[in-house]
Amino acid sequence: MKSKEPVFSEHILLKDFCTYAIGGPARYFLEIRTIEDMQAAIAFCCSHNIHYFVLGKGSNTLFDDRGYNGCILLNKIDFFEQPTSGTFHVGAGYSFSLLGVQSARQGWSGLEFASGIPGSVGGAVYMNAGANGHETCEHLELVDFVNEEGYLEIIPKQELSFTYRHSLFQKRKGAIVGATFLLEADALARKKQIDIVNYRIKTQPYGDKSAGCVFVNPDCGHAGALIEQYGLKGFSIGGAAVSTLHANFLINNNGASCQDMLDLIHHIQVKIKEEAGLNLETEVRYIPYSPGHI
Ligand SMILES: Cc1cc2nc3c(=O)[nH]c(=O)nc-3n(C[C@H](O)[C@H](O)[C@H](O)COP(=O)(O)OP(=O)(O)OC[C@H]3O[C@@H](n4cnc5c(N)ncnc54)[C@H](O)[C@@H]3O)c2cc1C
Repeated sequence: MKSKEPVFSEHILLKDFCTYAIGGPARYFLEIRTIEDMQAAIAFCCSHNIHYFVLGKGSNTLFDDRGYNGCILLNKIDFFEQPTSGTFHVGAGYSFSLLGVQSARQGWSGLEFASGIPGSVGGAVYMNAGANGHETCEHLELVDFVNEEGYLEIIPKQELSFTYRHSLFQKRKGAIVGATFLLEADALARKKQIDIVNYRIKTQPYGDKSAGCVFVNPDCGHAGALIEQYGLKGFSIGGAAVSTLHANFLINNNGASCQDMLDLIHHIQVKIKEEAGLNLETEVRYIPYSPGHI
């Protein structure tokens, strides 16, 4: 492991690094382009007791209005390799959507659903992102992970306990730096991928500032359908509103603050609990100002 000292920027506005366009300044901020630099940054944070948060494309993250009183490690590790036929080894900062498009164009099936998901590969693995009945873990083989001491581990999928929108990484400190997927040949892959994107554009508010679906679907159905059923489509608090196109998307309509968004989330949870007796859990990750409170 290299022991190069990272050079941090200070007071970078987080609203410029997430799809909600919400969030105050990060105390420290570092853009990372190589695995070695991620190892050095994590080892440095660990030895200096600095809290850090690994950020991908910020498409599932709600930052606090006060910002983040720790270090943001912006993952831009974006190598792309095809070591054998059907195998894709990519950096965790690579666009997940682009990977879905590129693999389908070459006639490989398994990641068509990724096209249109505006996250990084690392964020998709961390969240076990999914759509159209498929999940990231299905065609995943290996994950390259920098652990909390800064050492690189290559972890097979079987050790990662993936479930719906959940991976073991949600309980481990460190950073995903790469992932290997093994896809299957399918002449219809490109057509499937195009159909998926076209359906997304019709059914989701792509032009709006959002973080996708805010609530995970309860066992009995779709969170969006429940929110619509109980009359909350279009409902707003401050600048935060329930999308009129897809009720599980909460959008930053008009300069929403983080507090507006949290109040809207809470309002929906209370209403659905009262009316349907269900607890809606959030898929979007709220990052408080004080890292110790995560
Ligand atoms: C318009 C829109 C549509 C969407 N559609 C879908 C959908 O169909 N299905 C779906 O599942 N999601 C969807 N999302 C949500 C989001 O795109 C996914 O959850 C995506 O996988 C998040 O990736 P990210 O890089 O943006 O993660 P970020 O928001 O940057 O981070 C999310 C979490 O992952 C962690 N993380 C990110 N990268 C790393 C890393 N390298 N190492 C360790 N931890 C990391 C972060 O610390 C954070 O806790 C949508 C979002 C939008 C805005």
